Amino acid sequence: MRVLKPADWPEALALRAQHPAAVPVSGGTDVMVGLRAGRLRPDILLDLSRVPGLGGWRVDRDWVRLGAGTTYTGIADGLAGSLPGLAAVARAVGSRQVRNRGTLGGSLGTAAPTGDPHPMLLAIGAEIELSSANGTRRVPVDRFYRPQGGTALAADELIHSVRLPVVTGPQRFARVGARRGMVKSACSCAIVLDAAREEIRVAVGGYGPAPHRAADAEALLREQLWTGGLTGDLLGRFGRLVAASATPVTDLRATAAYRRHAIAVLAGRNLQQVWESHRRKEA
Ligand SMILES: Cc1cc2nc3c(=O)[nH]c(=O)nc-3n(C[C@H](O)[C@H](O)[C@H](O)COP(=O)(O)OP(=O)(O)OC[C@H]3O[C@@H](n4cnc5c(N)ncnc54)[C@H](O)[C@@H]3O)c2cc1C
Repeated sequence: MRVLKPADWPEALALRAQHPAAVPVSGGTDVMVGLRAGRLRPDILLDLSRVPGLGGWRVDRDWVRLGAGTTYTGIADGLAGSLPGLAAVARAVGSRQVRNRGTLGGSLGTAAPTGDPHPMLLAIGAEIELSSANGTRRVPVDRFYRPQGGTALAADELIHSVRLPVVTGPQRFARVGARRGMVKSACSCAIVLDAAREEIRVAVGGYGPAPHRAADAEALLREQLWTGGLTGDLLGRFGRLVAASATPVTDLRATAAYRRHAIAVLAGRNLQQVWESHRRKEA
């Protein structure tokens, strides 16, 4: 197996164009597991871990632009102020070793149903910057994930960065697994309260092939929450609508029925927490 080590981004894109079957590797926490298990047998690895600039971020007034090589530790330690929801996700991932190596770009590259960042990226409204030797395009994250699994990444493209709007308002992430750490999520839920727009966005993942936003549940809150407040009835209906928006699978980690129940519970809890936190701030 050959390992190509581009010194900069243009060289990485040129190598990607020349070797579309090469497997990119950033932190290697998914790729190395695949290699060791024999699931991946590439002739060529394209090592992006030394490409300058991929591992950093820039915070503007309205946007944060994260390089694809930003690690979970980087996000948790450096971005808790501007991206509190994504920082909470980063803190929940794996072990310290995995957080030190694993990257946001790698999570998008794998697009595993169990990947914890996906619901939060959807709820925040991220855009993914994909580059090839022919140029760069921005894909809204809800069009990046394919409904039946897989992504919009083309064979000659690499993930360059992720753009996230800075949202003022509380954000929550919660997941359910067989235990608290070092386990794949059976389902997860992210909620973002966008105070400027008076809007709550909710997304779920881990339950089936692809994460999604629960549009009907969001519409219910748009109609009733900001005028009538959070009643027990609204909370229950919201949780049920979020659960109904998902078509969970039964697998080793959980049954479909358990997942549906857990999604409703996580969504309800997250909503209660962001709403109470928002009200406290307003008071
Ligand atoms: C013990 C353990 C525990 C884990 N726990 C969790 C967890 O709790 N939550 C969770 O979400 N994940 C978890 N993971 C999975 C993993 O850490 C994440 O998916 C991580 O984000 C992958 O990032 P990476 O940089 O290591 O990716 P890599 O392994 O380097 O790459 C992953 C995929 O992305 C592609 N890729 C990488 N970079 C790019 C790029 N710039 N452009 C295009 N394609 C690219 C690769 O070709 C590959 O297909 C765990 C993994 C392990 C081994």
